[in-house]
Amino acid sequence: LLLNMLLSIQNRFTNELPADKDNSNEVRKVFDACFSFVKPTPTSNPKLIHAITDVVEMIGLKEDDITSDEFLNVFTGNKILENTKPYAICYGGHQFGTWAGQLGDGRAINLFETENNNQYYTLQLKGAGKTPYSRNADGLAVLRSSIREYLCAEAMHHLGVPTTRSLSLSLSGDEVLRDIMYNGNPALEKGAIVCRVAPSFIRFGNFEIFASRNDLKTLQQLADFTIKHYFPEITSEKKDKYVDLLENVVKKTLLMIVEWQRVGFVHGVMNTDNMSIHGLTIDYGPYGWLEDYNPDWTPNTTDIQHKRYRFGNQPEIALWNLYQLANALYPLVDEAKPFEDILNSFQTEYEAKYLEMMKGKLGITLDNETDIKLIYQLTELLTVKEIDMTIFFRLLSNIKKNDNQEQAFSKINTAFYQLDEIKDEILNAWHFWLNQYIERINLENIKDSERKQKMNITNPKYVLRNYMSQIAIDAADKEDYSIIDELYTLLQRPYDEQPEKEKWFAKRPDWAREKIGCSM
Ligand code: AMP
Ligand code: MG
Ligand code: MG
Repeated sequence: LLLNMLLSIQNRFTNELPADKDNSNEVRKVFDACFSFVKPTPTSNPKLIHAITDVVEMIGLKEDDITSDEFLNVFTGNKILENTKPYAICYGGHQFGTWAGQLGDGRAINLFETENNNQYYTLQLKGAGKTPYSRNADGLAVLRSSIREYLCAEAMHHLGVPTTRSLSLSLSGDEVLRDIMYNGNPALEKGAIVCRVAPSFIRFGNFEIFASRNDLKTLQQLADFTIKHYFPEITSEKKDKYVDLLENVVKKTLLMIVEWQRVGFVHGVMNTDNMSIHGLTIDYGPYGWLEDYNPDWTPNTTDIQHKRYRFGNQPEIALWNLYQLANALYPLVDEAKPFEDILNSFQTEYEAKYLEMMKGKLGITLDNETDIKLIYQLTELLTVKEIDMTIFFRLLSNIKKNDNQEQAFSKINTAFYQLDEIKDEILNAWHFWLNQYIERINLENIKDSERKQKMNITNPKYVLRNYMSQIAIDAADKEDYSIIDELYTLLQRPYDEQPEKEKWFAKRPDWAREKIGCSM
């Protein structure tokens, strides 16, 4: 057992928190427990498709270990390391604004926790079979959605957005039935397993489930555990520490959302069971990236009517979710005022951070009273015609202090999807805005080249557009995994010019216009 020797195995979650008395994988309601011990379902013919060397090394393994049989078997659930007992976590959640009761790790199985360089990591398989929390589903994941999660988490990390990480992507060798119809029949798809890594997978819904059942004992145990291990900066005692816990989670969540808005990421399923207590982006389901800048867009085809989780609504939903977390923690504090103060400050803090972030995207650093208006006018203008968000902001850095409005426009207009349809009125509005922008950058005392450099570490050149994942998925379906690696390599340096990869700095092609459905 080579990996066992290399990894410093810890099991704080299962050692310190109450376990379900029953150890079977049978679907059931679980009470008075934070988790259930489970067995991953063995797979028939596992095959490693890809692994992330950075993450392998981060958890204390070596690059060479990736090619061992043991690596494959452990990270597909076929071999259980000594001194570890896999488990599925019990949580609840508000889904699309409604309390959904017990949810839990229905297709995730936590293997163990490991420590390396004083950091703790929980390793979790997604798609390794049924657990007590699988409800009426199969506990499995298909290759398609696994590639999307695997690549996107790493893309986000390299963009500087807080996220869970990806360790490995494997085929299970088993087929999975999904309700996407081909010729009127449900389709069989290739099963896959991703191993993902985070400090912990504790979600807002973990606290909500105990509060909803008035199980204050387990609620407090979980809150104390969370503070002790993950928020060592909290030194207050008694009730105050739960207030501080909420405050910390509010801050982290807020920062995560600002980053999503910066890069144009739309999560798509911001249910409270998909909100990490660490403010990490988690559970990459039907997520998407803004291509044309449209605050009303959501990638989630089940949310088309209300568009609850649309791009422009993400800050508001984050706050709504934080209210649910506050409600869940409330019994431990029993005093509304401190929680209200924290939640009330979200709006103003968000606005301040958003302004700072948008100024970064525009390459302006000094304070000017017209900045808010300049930003507001831009985001309005960006919605009038389809304009590619990533390409627009990347090109904006080419504008120079001495440019006139026409020169400036010619530098950004390849971001427009239908340039030939632009009416004079809209062109005039752009000229007007660009004039103001040029005036504004003339107030800054840095050189054009310096501003460009700064803007280019805020405005990515490459993001994981839906159609890019789709190309990788289609190739992988034919056992060609080269595009997964190509995209992974590209997205490791999203802010760098990569001239040999210029083809990925392109607007969405026409065939990908009707966003590709991304059910799970
Ligand atoms: P999601 O919206 O994907 O975050 O999932 C919501 C809930 O459904 C969670 O409790 C998941 O564990 C569960 N779930 C989603 N897909 C499956 C599946 N294929 N098998 C079992 N449980 C699932
Ligand atoms: Mg989820
Ligand atoms: Mg999911």
